[in-house]
Amino acid sequence: MSVLRYAVFGQPVAHSLSPRIHAMFAAQFGRRVDYRAIEVAPGALGAALEAFAARGGRGANVTLPLKEEAVGLCASLGQAAVRAAAVNLLRLDARGWHGDNTDGIGLVRDLRERHGLSLDGAEVWLLGAGGAARGVIPALLDAGIAALTIINRSRPRAEALVGRFGARCQALPLDLGALAERAPPGLLLNALSSGHAGLFPLPVAPGWLHATLAYDLSYGAAARPFVAWARACGAAAVETGLGMLVEQAAESWWLWNRERPVTATVLAALQQGLDC
Ligand code: NDP
Repeated sequence: MSVLRYAVFGQPVAHSLSPRIHAMFAAQFGRRVDYRAIEVAPGALGAALEAFAARGGRGANVTLPLKEEAVGLCASLGQAAVRAAAVNLLRLDARGWHGDNTDGIGLVRDLRERHGLSLDGAEVWLLGAGGAARGVIPALLDAGIAALTIINRSRPRAEALVGRFGARCQALPLDLGALAERAPPGLLLNALSSGHAGLFPLPVAPGWLHATLAYDLSYGAAARPFVAWARACGAAAVETGLGMLVEQAAESWWLWNRERPVTATVLAALQQGLDC
């Protein structure tokens, strides 16, 4: 039986659970997989992908901060990648790398199917305007949310996303004074990467999030700062992105192999080792 060679490229990437997830998917289908986490600095993804293909690599995931860089390296793009202008999935075809984006479908599946949110008519705030934010916005809009507020440290990046994604979106600064003037949303998504450095950049406003589901796209240690902040703000519920990670991985497996893994058992196995 031939070995399926996949990898996830990013920086940092050592924390990635993707190798474990894909090993569990492979076991479900009786396949052999060699899935590695490969650290790549911004600007070096093209060379890394070439070397990977030469070693037999046929598919890859791309994580922070390389999702926008990956777009320019693809010979073709799926619709989700075109809309997001961000790629988190690569598949080697006859013409070269085909890029797509499974982050949005992964998040929406986790919110709907695991956390029971309908999203239809929801008001959503999204912290962050990087690759993950770009990836999830089209799927949130498709899910029927009523309004999306994009909140980012670098205001032009948030405004560029508003310009890209249209009428239901607005931008606000990453500033508690400006945010606390408004009623908080039903769903607050954190797509900042600052948790990897052990910090969350807003001060605590006790009781402010009492009617809000606060959801960090990060998981494990990187989610701790946001989880602690959201709890201190009295959030109605706090969740992390482990379920999203497993769902986006399942969609990646589908796009590589046309097989649908069972995700619940994989998520349960991962949850045993994590406190967030
Ligand atoms: P990017 O590097 O593309 O974007 C980082 C974002 O974080 C930007 O909005 C940036 O703001 C902001 N940021 C970083 N540091 C700070 C800080 N100190 N203060 C304020 N803002 C800060 O990363 P990604 O979008 O790819 O990833 C974001 C997070 O989502 C990561 O933690 C990643 O692990 C997680 N993720 C989880 C997935 C899952 O399946 N569960 C899938 C995808 C991502 P600015 O624009 O001002 O620089």
